Amino acid sequence: MGMTLTEKLLARASGRTAVFAGENVWVNVDILMTHDVCGPGTIGIFKREFGKGAKVWDRKKIVIMPDHYIFTTDALCNRNVDILRDFVREQGLPYFYDIIDDPNGHWKFDPSKGELKRQYGNSYAGVCHTTLPLKGHTRPGEILIGTDSHTCTAGAFGEFATGVGNTDAGFIMGTGKILLKVPETMRFWLEGALQPGLMGKDVILHLIGDIGFDGATYRAMEFVGPGASALPMDDRMTIANMAIEAGGKNGIFEADQKTFDYVNERTAANGTKKDYEPATPDADAKFVYNKKFDLSKLEPTVACHPDPGQRKLAKELGHIALDRAYIGSCTGGKTSDFLAFARVVKGRKVKIDTFGVPATTQIVRELQTMTLGGQTVWDIIVAAGVRMTENAGCAACLGGPVDTFGRMNKPMKCISATNRNFPGRMGHRESQVFLASPATVAASALTGKITDPREFWT
Ligand code: SF4
Repeated sequence: MGMTLTEKLLARASGRTAVFAGENVWVNVDILMTHDVCGPGTIGIFKREFGKGAKVWDRKKIVIMPDHYIFTTDALCNRNVDILRDFVREQGLPYFYDIIDDPNGHWKFDPSKGELKRQYGNSYAGVCHTTLPLKGHTRPGEILIGTDSHTCTAGAFGEFATGVGNTDAGFIMGTGKILLKVPETMRFWLEGALQPGLMGKDVILHLIGDIGFDGATYRAMEFVGPGASALPMDDRMTIANMAIEAGGKNGIFEADQKTFDYVNERTAANGTKKDYEPATPDADAKFVYNKKFDLSKLEPTVACHPDPGQRKLAKELGHIALDRAYIGSCTGGKTSDFLAFARVVKGRKVKIDTFGVPATTQIVRELQTMTLGGQTVWDIIVAAGVRMTENAGCAACLGGPVDTFGRMNKPMKCISATNRNFPGRMGHRESQVFLASPATVAASALTGKITDPREFWT
């Protein structure tokens, strides 16, 4: 019997010729990522179990990035970043994307400088899942584990990527290994091309709506077919990112020339490991689910409150009046996301409070230099009335402390380019979050109601 792509990767990483769904295997990890929320706990477990003076298993395989609760005056959150810095210094870790430049300094957010202007040094990068590929830490064929559920984003690059808790991460820190149950694979065969105004976000919201928000629990979601190959890397990232929103263990695309070009460019630019060995699934692999989807038939899609499986079409929701719009996060805060948003709002004004948070500092720079019709993308969005911050990070995607930029501190209805909408996710427990593509968020910000972006798409 043949193996799926996920089985192939787990077989190789466990030193076996074959593994199949349901088996438990010890897997060698290529990259361990952690951030300011889970890093301190992971470090604590590592030290408790391996000893105060223990050294990590491989300095070059650990990537640490503060990104979640950064731009806040909450002293405990600021302290978390300092704990990461102390650990990085003690262990001599090369891949730490610190918020400040002084390796002996302390981080303190200064609210008197305002929320919009940059408050970070030169090493800071931004949201972990967007930063990993941008900084050359994602490679086809590898195993990437992170202390964050959306680590599955890296499956866009033909690797096995999944999120774990602090205990597993602490163990990996000491040994480089993790015990994993091989997931069953669901195959999503994509064909046809997306209509103008549709994005990767519409694809994944459609698929999750089809199977439900628990429809892929502990399963691999494998995205294949000509429709998958035609998607740009950013769309593949958006789709793999939300595999966890259906309960998936991982989401994965087969690596192709687009993947190789993207990865080769980033590893060369950042001096990270260049070599990798992609894997391909066997033709006779066994799937627990196998379904075709015609992308040309999709329409702008929204996941309604209170979970990512509540699928509706944007055009059916014009009766829902909104208080707020939000574009940002590892799902909807990439350059291509803001570009789609700008195409919709160019020369127009938003009607409701709208917040923009680029995922990474590199994206901030790109938006401030890339032009559309003679104006920078950044300026187009600001001119439309959007509050754009240079302080790239997770911001209100995960609610965060009360002073977090864009957080909903009272009950409201928000349309958001983020990935999760369980009650309380973006702040107040009684607020409602509607998940949509950046284009749909933009069109809805212009009208104050959920709106199909094709009305404004040019
Ligand atoms: S942007 Fe949101 S989903 Fe992504 S890592 Fe940050 S909190 Fe998590």
